[in-house]
Amino acid sequence: MPQIGYLSEDRLRNIPKRQWAAHEFSFYLHDLIAHLTSAAERHRAGHIQIKIETEKDIEALREASDPIDFLSVTGRTDEERRLMVNHICAALLPDMLHFIHAGLTALEKRKFTLAFACLRKPFNEGMPLIALLCADEEKFFTKFKTDPVDFLDGRRFHRTAKRLAIEAAIAKCSDLDFLSADVLYAYLFDFENPSGFAGLFDKAMHLVTRNSSIKTEAYNLNFIFKDPRQNDVYESSYQVISYVLLCIHLMQVELLKRMHFPADDYLKQLSIRAAGTYQALFLKGRSEIAGSINETLGGLMKCPVCNERVRLRKRTVPMFFVTENLECDQCGHVNQFPLAWLMSNHAGDGVNSQHD
Ligand SMILES: [Zn+2]
Repeated sequence: MPQIGYLSEDRLRNIPKRQWAAHEFSFYLHDLIAHLTSAAERHRAGHIQIKIETEKDIEALREASDPIDFLSVTGRTDEERRLMVNHICAALLPDMLHFIHAGLTALEKRKFTLAFACLRKPFNEGMPLIALLCADEEKFFTKFKTDPVDFLDGRRFHRTAKRLAIEAAIAKCSDLDFLSADVLYAYLFDFENPSGFAGLFDKAMHLVTRNSSIKTEAYNLNFIFKDPRQNDVYESSYQVISYVLLCIHLMQVELLKRMHFPADDYLKQLSIRAAGTYQALFLKGRSEIAGSINETLGGLMKCPVCNERVRLRKRTVPMFFVTENLECDQCGHVNQFPLAWLMSNHAGDGVNSQHD
């Protein structure tokens, strides 16, 4: 897969060339989640409005330790839940993004242990918590309010509970047929899966590990003697990283829709572009979204250099969706294409359907 052009070559120079596009896409997903988080903040999407009508309310507000306390004391349970969920999203996602950014940057420097130590918390703890919110915020609210430790510590919110939360969240946030809780479970929590992250996460965190599938060999310490010139980590990691980040993005979009975020079509467009890029980069078979774009926008895709009609190909999908540049399949020139504008004009057509 060719370079997407999202990151400078300077950033990519230590990564094997075959994985450049995948690394760029991972960073694009990180930036997409970050951009939506700050856009939500700017639009005050997490704010709620309430009317204070009685003297009793004014007194309660004066005496409350914070706005959530006021809502609780005055029996405004729905508003309390909404504010709490919004508040958690606004605070948890940036925390997850700090670790993801550090993990991806560590991969650019071939610091493998650091990369997996950084990715563990947002992937294995943050993402399942976002999934719980996405799946059933009423249940989350009730339990979180009474005893968050008992609700969320490892004894209760264990691997199986996380799989169930993720399954329920995916059912709410996406109808993409390649997204599944079983795949996420295998990627993040199954120590028996040799290409998953469960073992790598533990090995990155601990010098020695006892679990039979990741037991530290005699005369060794986890990761300490790993040759940083080896490329195996790059070959096996990007599909997992991209898959998890795509899920976080889709769950974030679902949560934003429940807030006052006035951009449903735009959110849908971003999700289609992210999912289409994932499919083109990592899944076998033809790219259905490329076919759908050719059908809907093909009439406008004419190369300004050679004047030929351009068809979007699976290999040119990542650059097209991530940077809005279209590579001519006749002469090879790359030109800007106003994808976002045109997709918003075709909202509701086939081009904006996740199945097409
Ligand atoms: Zn051309």
